[in-house]
Amino acid sequence: MSRVLPPPETFDAQVPLVIVGAGAAGLCAALSAHEAGVEPVVIERDAVPSGSTALSAGLIPAAGTRFQRDKGIADSAELFAADIQRKAHGENDPAIVETIARNAGPTIEWLADRYGLPFDVIDNFNYPSHSAFRMHGLPTRSGAELIDRLRAAAEASGVTLLTDSRVDTLFTGTDGRIRGIEFVRGDGTRERIGCDALVLACNGYGGNAALVRELIPEMADALYFGHPGNQGEAVAWGRALGAELAHLGAYQGHGSVATPHNILVTWAVIMEGGIQVNTEGRRFCDETHGYSEQAAEVLRQPGGIAWNVFDDRIANVARQFEDFRNAEKGGALLTAASLDDLAARMHVPAAALREEWDEAERCKANGAADRFGRTFAASHAFVGPWHAVKVTGALFHTQGGLAIDTATRVKRHRGGVFANLFAAGGAASGVSGETASGYLSGNGLLAATVLGRLAGKAAAFLTPIKVR
Ligand SMILES: Cc1cc2nc3c(=O)[nH]c(=O)nc-3n(C[C@H](O)[C@H](O)[C@H](O)COP(=O)(O)OP(=O)(O)OC[C@H]3O[C@@H](n4cnc5c(N)ncnc54)[C@H](O)[C@@H]3O)c2cc1C
Repeated sequence: MSRVLPPPETFDAQVPLVIVGAGAAGLCAALSAHEAGVEPVVIERDAVPSGSTALSAGLIPAAGTRFQRDKGIADSAELFAADIQRKAHGENDPAIVETIARNAGPTIEWLADRYGLPFDVIDNFNYPSHSAFRMHGLPTRSGAELIDRLRAAAEASGVTLLTDSRVDTLFTGTDGRIRGIEFVRGDGTRERIGCDALVLACNGYGGNAALVRELIPEMADALYFGHPGNQGEAVAWGRALGAELAHLGAYQGHGSVATPHNILVTWAVIMEGGIQVNTEGRRFCDETHGYSEQAAEVLRQPGGIAWNVFDDRIANVARQFEDFRNAEKGGALLTAASLDDLAARMHVPAAALREEWDEAERCKANGAADRFGRTFAASHAFVGPWHAVKVTGALFHTQGGLAIDTATRVKRHRGGVFANLFAAGGAASGVSGETASGYLSGNGLLAATVLGRLAGKAAAFLTPIKVR
């Protein structure tokens, strides 16, 4: 149940700012609002904040950071914005892309310098369609570390966090201003809080099977790999409020989830020169377009699965990821001294696998594109033993949502904006265009951290400043 109702006569409490959701977006919003002198109340349905943020690799793209400069990486917000738009086929609002690209570097440095998040920039492999090394990660390369550090920062700042509490109702006046919210605690008790401003940071609708079937039919039967609490309240409230909703068919898929282990296998295994074959031992596309669109490609193969095949050098690059190490520990990685032995372990025809591998080797040697248009870097000399992981395609998170302006205010369907309603992260429409193929790696946490920070700051301007 997600409702929009007229305001009650009284609220149980009145606060300047409510933030719904304590993922990366909600916690960044809380930190920036608090810095602006406003005490936000963050309401989170789980007992301990985790969200899809905790399930992610925690990698955030940003351009022009000091972490890049320290490694001699030349990059700029303009180049980053161009990469985002190119991947999204030019389908994004350029003003939002420009705002996000320009604020990403300062956001990473803000989290590092003000809150001590020890980012560094990955420079030993690159993600599809990024024209510079700009993916910033924490030491474990895991989103669990990111959310734990953000929560610790919020707690240390004294931000009020109400957990085990699900917001299901928004209250609006006849003037369209948000007056407050109602939430239900784990024990069933209800509470109403009035607020001067509201930030929706409750992510998208990946966990709502009915909405996925309606809005993203190609992933209706896919494994959902995101947080179950992403139930699409922002879309439901947006529909009831008359908000503009955008890019509802966009999503981040992933074509490399180890099955049946259900562990993400980093796309580094492909970008470093590995290939994907189906159960017939045959490649089926240029895998390097992006892992997001590859989810549907893999699901179209027999049995809805594929095999990632790569060598030992690539496995060593992938081992920097905790997920990959867990997949290996969990027995997802098949290893063999020769390709023929590997094919036998995979139960695919050895001749077909050998042909595919030979074609990749040939293209690498002569620099030519293969039959799908993929080129392999000559530096990628293959070194045995050989490895394979059985994978499937999954839905990670949705990218459509509430359309916002550059100050993260939610737009009205009929024009204009809601004066005191903001959206960030997966609750807002992202910068991934209209389909899975528009997703540039890192767009998820990019929109969560950057828009979250902007939303907190913008919402704080609307509220009475607390004197400290
Ligand atoms: C496996 C996986 C790997 C990924 N890897 C990356 C990556 O490396 N880089 C990247 O950029 N992106 C990645 N993503 C995407 C990224 O995780 C998300 O885009 C990002 O975490 C969204 O942040 P958020 O704060 O909007 O949402 P979330 O982190 O999901 O937080 C939303 C919070 O709101 C709470 N909530 C929801 N509804 C309510 C309600 N009604 N009342 C109260 N609370 C509510 C939820 O419980 C949740 O805690 C990955 C996603 C997955 C699933």
